[in-house]
Amino acid sequence: MKHSLVVATNNRGKLEELRHLLADMDVEVLSIQDVSKRPIQVVEDGDTFEANAIKKAREVAAATMMLTLADDSGLEVDALGGAPGVRSARFAGERATDAENNAALLAALDELTADAAGTRTGDFNARFRCVLALVDPFVRDGEPLVAEGTCSGKITRTPRGSGGFGYDPLFLVDGTDKTMAELSEDEKNRVSHRARAIDGLRRMLEQTIAARDALTRAVVG
Ligand code: IMP
Repeated sequence: MKHSLVVATNNRGKLEELRHLLADMDVEVLSIQDVSKRPIQVVEDGDTFEANAIKKAREVAAATMMLTLADDSGLEVDALGGAPGVRSARFAGERATDAENNAALLAALDELTADAAGTRTGDFNARFRCVLALVDPFVRDGEPLVAEGTCSGKITRTPRGSGGFGYDPLFLVDGTDKTMAELSEDEKNRVSHRARAIDGLRRMLEQTIAARDALTRAVVG
């Protein structure tokens, strides 16, 4: 029997990527809209990706009583002291669009590197980071399991590509001459921070499903 897994996000890009990354597992990946008539808003006020991922997973699991996966992720630029970091989705302000966040990132880098002649220089090491938290309200007393993945690269001033979402057009993937937005869906899903975090989570998900099956057998017989 396929188990339902709700993804605690309102970000369509993340949801679609997680759906593909989990396609080989015995789970039906559902959105919040699939399982709840009313929106579930979680205030992401943690200082770390892990704190926010755990908070989202716990709150959505409590509201739905379902096996829940949360993804908190973002971009860290070394020259900006790790910003936008946990504020990646809101770097240009609450409810900012991807285009506004990308423009805010380029403006922040321009400020750093405008030299006396007004030209822009600099090479910006960066990484995407993804932390996944898995909560089953009926297993381990709802304690979360956590997995993390990163993908290293550099920020380019010239956006390229139309795939993916978020900062993908500005992120040159290490070991390639492409931005994340120039990779095909399959290529991104082989190298991304999210794919690497899913690699770490796979076994935990299998074990959680096995524990849930054992509980069901104990109750139903
Ligand atoms: P969260 O919803 O608070 O986890 O914020 C996620 C934000 O990080 C997104 O809105 C993007 O700005 C950025 N982000 C996370 N993952 C990716 C990715 O795979 N590509 C591009 N941007 C990403």
